[in-house]
Amino acid sequence: MKYEPVIGMEVHIELKTKSKMFCSCANNPDEIQPNKNICPVCIGYPGTLPVANKEAIEDTIKTALALGCRIAEHSKFDRKNYFYPDLPKGYQISQYDQPISEGGFLEINGRKINITRIHLEEDTGKLVHPNGANYSLVDLNRAGTPLMELVTEPEIKSSQEAKEFCRQLQLIVKYLGVSDADMEKGHMRCEANISIKLVGQKEFGTKVEIKNLNSFRAVERSIEYEIKRQAEVLDDGGKIVQETRGWNADEQKTYSQRKKEEAHDYRYFPEPDLPPLNLTKKAGLFDVEKIRESIPELPLFKKNRFINQYKLTEENARIFSEDKELANFFEEIVSELREWIKAKGIDGNRLDKLTKLTANYILTELQRLLYKNGNSVVDCSITAENFAEFISLINEGKISSSGAQVMLSEMYKTGGDPSNILDEKELTQVSDESEIERIVDEIIKNNQKSVDDYKSGKKVALKFLMGQAMKESKGKANPQVVGEMLKRKLG
Ligand code: ADP
Ligand code: MG
Ligand code: ZN
Repeated sequence: MKYEPVIGMEVHIELKTKSKMFCSCANNPDEIQPNKNICPVCIGYPGTLPVANKEAIEDTIKTALALGCRIAEHSKFDRKNYFYPDLPKGYQISQYDQPISEGGFLEINGRKINITRIHLEEDTGKLVHPNGANYSLVDLNRAGTPLMELVTEPEIKSSQEAKEFCRQLQLIVKYLGVSDADMEKGHMRCEANISIKLVGQKEFGTKVEIKNLNSFRAVERSIEYEIKRQAEVLDDGGKIVQETRGWNADEQKTYSQRKKEEAHDYRYFPEPDLPPLNLTKKAGLFDVEKIRESIPELPLFKKNRFINQYKLTEENARIFSEDKELANFFEEIVSELREWIKAKGIDGNRLDKLTKLTANYILTELQRLLYKNGNSVVDCSITAENFAEFISLINEGKISSSGAQVMLSEMYKTGGDPSNILDEKELTQVSDESEIERIVDEIIKNNQKSVDDYKSGKKVALKFLMGQAMKESKGKANPQVVGEMLKRKLG
């Protein structure tokens, strides 16, 4: 293609503070009774006064610090004036020229995407359009919800990168605990600005903004569509008009909503009812250093640490880095195993093997059980201590891999102790030579044809004999011992 796209994202994220941005109403995005969490402040009665929510400002500072942004020494709120039925005040309290933070970046596949700013504003209410009715209803439960907006520089180069940016941002705000960032529920909403230019050309082309993208898929698909559409317009000798477009997911197309000439003049001015914010001043309201200390290890750091420290594959480390709870569980188990090795005086090198075994069992068998039961690891009744014991049983050859599956689902169901389950369910793997010999001899006696096949060079016959012996032992024989004994006896 002779064009290259230029993309900048604007992302809105609802913060999960206890109360709303400027009043003490509950901030509950799951409230289903319309207009329950409202008061004169958030429904815009004249003469009421807003009070800024400290928790929301702290959450924004926390997010900004996590992304390496500069926290403004002085910040303020501004009124953004426009009329819409879901905005009863006739203006939205937002931030114009003194946002809480500027700068910072998010690294996507090794490339830094610079952030322009992160500011804080309030969400609007919601219009409800009853099916077939010739009127609309308004629900103001959401009005005044703290809404954090992040704007990137026009540096994103593809639809996949834009999607990945949104995915990583979602992960980070979830890690920080400032938002659930569920796109389906509208906690996180994305807008993409897209232009194209000839490859190598310096000046940017005219941009188009796509609004209200409420899934990662919509982000990716709408950008792809828009790049193609713009290329076709230019190839036909046309010009791109600056406009806002919507995304029609059913038709997988963007459509024009509003041209530049129809754009609002918001007549921003400083919000007179709120004092300016001193954010970085010592002895002020906000302790930036304390907020910085509260930031947990972030996903990218965790991923790299898991690769280095536990020698996990990149893919396994990535999966853990995207699930904080699962990663914590894994680390608890590894530290139990480390203790166990120390207590038993086992060679420390064994820990690497046990660690890998743990990662594999968590990411396959445990994940499968969690997925099947729709549970998260937080509700899982298996303790790290029991999981570690389970891993040690496998490593010591006390339980076969099929026995291990049975044991894990039993542990999952009952929260039981592995050594108890081992006895109760008779899962102990048989490694005892004399017992295995009895089985192997019987199999050899009863399968003369396969024995002859093997002796005449058909190596596959051994597999069959192995299978028969394992079946005879009800899956409990140690397969390694069986294999070796068979080979020895068959010569
Ligand atoms: P506006 O004033 O129209 O909101 P801004 O300059 O504030 O425009 O930028 C809004 C978003 O659009 C930012 O994410 C920015 O990176 C992006 N952007 C700006 N110019 C372009 C362009 N020519 N092509 C693509 N994205 C752009
Ligand atoms: Mg804008
Ligand atoms: Zn209120």
